[in-house]
Amino acid sequence: MSRVLSGIQASGQLTLGNYIGAIQNFVKLQESHECFFMVVDMHAITVPQEPEALREQTESVAALFIAAGIDPAKSSVFVQSHVPAHAEMGWLFTTLAYMGELERMTQYKDKSAGKDSIGAGLFVYPTLMAADILLYNADLVPVGDDQKQHLELTRDLANRFNARFGDYFNIPEGYTPKVGARIMSLDDASKKMSKSNPNPASYIALLDPPDVIRKKISRATTDSGREVKFNPAEKPEVSNLMSIYSHCAGLTLQEIEDRYEGQGYGAFKKELAEHVVATLEPLQARYAEIRSSGELHDILRQGAEQVSVVANRTVRDVKERMGFVMPR
Ligand code: ATP
Ligand code: MG
Repeated sequence: MSRVLSGIQASGQLTLGNYIGAIQNFVKLQESHECFFMVVDMHAITVPQEPEALREQTESVAALFIAAGIDPAKSSVFVQSHVPAHAEMGWLFTTLAYMGELERMTQYKDKSAGKDSIGAGLFVYPTLMAADILLYNADLVPVGDDQKQHLELTRDLANRFNARFGDYFNIPEGYTPKVGARIMSLDDASKKMSKSNPNPASYIALLDPPDVIRKKISRATTDSGREVKFNPAEKPEVSNLMSIYSHCAGLTLQEIEDRYEGQGYGAFKKELAEHVVATLEPLQARYAEIRSSGELHDILRQGAEQVSVVANRTVRDVKERMGFVMPR
């Protein structure tokens, strides 16, 4: 059975972008693949995090995985820092990467833009991500569009390792949804929706109460026209809202266009908000149950135990191939 690995940073509240671009695929893939899903807390600290907030966000992301339908009986769910092999493998891969290729990463450029002091962790982020994936020799990596470049680097690093130290790694493939691989910000359709955006009006958080969702959608930026048409180049804001609509209502883009012909944006936004609310309400109810039941830490401990077996074996093999003396 082929293997899937993916993760989400504990860097804020999960958004509809994370749900549509990543988590919905996690839930589907667990039916047919061996799946490893992690909360990536060590990536989250590549930008400053308050300790209390990091703890809360880590638990919240893990609980949302389960609430969204990831079944711990089918998938291993764990926290990255609970498996020290990630940090170790991250260092080994940092030594294989070149400054030039890391400098080309658009996430690094976006997240460091306008900052006086840029953390070195932000720069080497992609080498830790490569380690995350290769530790499990994953075949498939479900990610949104924004992570494609990092995945390409992972493939390059796997090939580089194989060429220098002998064939060992699979070359992993990406897996992105056809519509919704890049959900854009509600206030600026030139930027992707991101949980670390300081402006909460730019995203819909999976835990936003219904009235907050309605307000955010009604205030979402649109063009001055009134035609509900999917045209990302000329109508990026409306097209983005249509992608969200399509996912939440299970309608095609064409069906949405037909439904709102001649009606303007008001009716479209109002019904969109109700579809988003209806999608998130059951998830929010399950989330509350999981947080109050206390079962989360058992799930995470079991997940870490399961994946450690694979991760520790890979680190040992990699170190042996690189020429480290193994303890005897
Ligand atoms: P941050 O702002 O801290 O980087 P993020 O919202 O970008 O947070 P990540 O943890 O970096 O979330 O990414 C988790 C997963 O969600 C990745 O697979 C990523 O590609 C996907 N993803 C993130 N944002 C979007 C988006 N706007 N549309 C679709 N997928 C997305
Ligand atoms: Mg991100």
